Amino acid sequence: MQTLQHLIGGVWEDSSDDAYTDVVDPATEEVVARAPAGSPDDVDRAVAAAVRAQPAWAALPVHERVARISAWADAVAEHAGELAELECREMGKPVGIGRTFVAGAAAGLKEAAGQALSYRFEDTVDGPEGSTTRILRHPLGATAVITPWNFPVAMVLGALGPLLAAGNTVVVKPSERSPLSAVRLFELLDLPPGVVNLVLGDARAGAPLAGHDRIRLVHFTGSVDAGRKVAADAGGKLHRTVLELGGKDPVVVDAGVDPKATAAAVAFGAFLNTGQICTSMERIYVHQDIADAFVDALAEAAAAYQAGDGRREDVMMGPLVDERQRAIVRRHVADAVERGAKIRAGGVEPDGKGYFYPATVLTDVDESMLVMREETFGPLAPVVVVPSFEEGLERAGRSRYGLAATVYTNDDDHVAAAARLPAGVVWVNQWQGGGPERLYEPAGDSGMGATGSTAAYDAATRPAAVHIAARPAS
Ligand code: NAD
Repeated sequence: MQTLQHLIGGVWEDSSDDAYTDVVDPATEEVVARAPAGSPDDVDRAVAAAVRAQPAWAALPVHERVARISAWADAVAEHAGELAELECREMGKPVGIGRTFVAGAAAGLKEAAGQALSYRFEDTVDGPEGSTTRILRHPLGATAVITPWNFPVAMVLGALGPLLAAGNTVVVKPSERSPLSAVRLFELLDLPPGVVNLVLGDARAGAPLAGHDRIRLVHFTGSVDAGRKVAADAGGKLHRTVLELGGKDPVVVDAGVDPKATAAAVAFGAFLNTGQICTSMERIYVHQDIADAFVDALAEAAAAYQAGDGRREDVMMGPLVDERQRAIVRRHVADAVERGAKIRAGGVEPDGKGYFYPATVLTDVDESMLVMREETFGPLAPVVVVPSFEEGLERAGRSRYGLAATVYTNDDDHVAAAARLPAGVVWVNQWQGGGPERLYEPAGDSGMGATGSTAAYDAATRPAAVHIAARPAS
């Protein structure tokens, strides 16, 4: 069986201790590899390598850094199929869908790195009495990127572009549940040794990395609970943090929209990646005037998302990542049913191997239920019928999370009202998308630190001002 290694200072290395975790294929429950659990010593060596490599990397002209990163993005795009197969093996995502997301992530890396060419790393402004001020944007130094398993390749690449292009070096700790694609991703890398380092492992490696003395920024993507711990560890060391955390995103469906087309869009938003997307639609508020037709169409659409092994090209929905994740889904459904919810589609787990759970539509739901309060991260579509759009909007806004929200409406006033939703991103009559200029910061418990547009470069650099007095006339 394959035993994975860390990449430290350009060298593939074993862990310094003997702790390993199994990598399990969620469709078959077979152990497919083992990965080091990661130790504080591994983290120390990786951070030291990143610190050593940083001055020479930052000294390269920006266009050279961008060219080197772009070459990596091209290599990733060329290997999109292979990386998607590894993602499927480690976390279940169907290969066809994974290929599209890996290719998109490679293009995103290229685009984000390319923004460095127009970012103002230096600016000069006139000051009082003939003085001038130079604003210099310095790289921070060695940084840490900690990622989840739901889009293994995209999460790593999404964080790296601006950090690297701005002249920082990085220690990446991917999720312990998705190390296969991470290792392959870094085998394709051709950057100077130490510029990007890979430490495999779980929180035993993540915590010492977040709180490491010589790290200057922690970019963390993951759950709210782990995000709080990371913020505490990093805050104790006064590191800058960017936290992209969980959500419980609402969707409000107005009267007057096409119930069938909207139900198909909502099914996609709820069941894509088996509902394991931070911006999955997890609370559905539908206007009473179209509720019956919408729920019928949603239940019908759910049937198209038959859970199966993602290596089969016809499978649109894979298994959940592991039994722990399936247990959360099972608990949310049981709690809802106990409190009066009805199962309109799905809800019955298949026999046999694999952490499968069917696409499930719940009705007669209210906010006392776990499924409306806590992030599920599974293929559940709980529907609440509301008497008016305004009530739907108001109830959609009642959450401790605030990642994104979606509204389907044909009414211009309602389009305007949607902007009031307390979320980092509001989508109207679409879900996802918005392009690289999409500047936002999650609201509530869903995170901290703006992303999009030039915000990632602002976060990846430290501005310093140099004031130069006018020379006295001689
Ligand atoms: P998780 O919080 O369990 O783990 C995320 C990463 O943090 C993993 O690499 C893990 O090993 C590491 N980690 C865990 N505890 C840590 C600690 N105390 N210190 C340092 N590192 C630690 O999350 P997960 O189950 O891997 O991913 C699912 C979560 O990620 C969901 O809540 C989802 O909404 C969220 N997510 C958010 C976004 C976003 O952009 N906002 C994107 C994808 C996923």
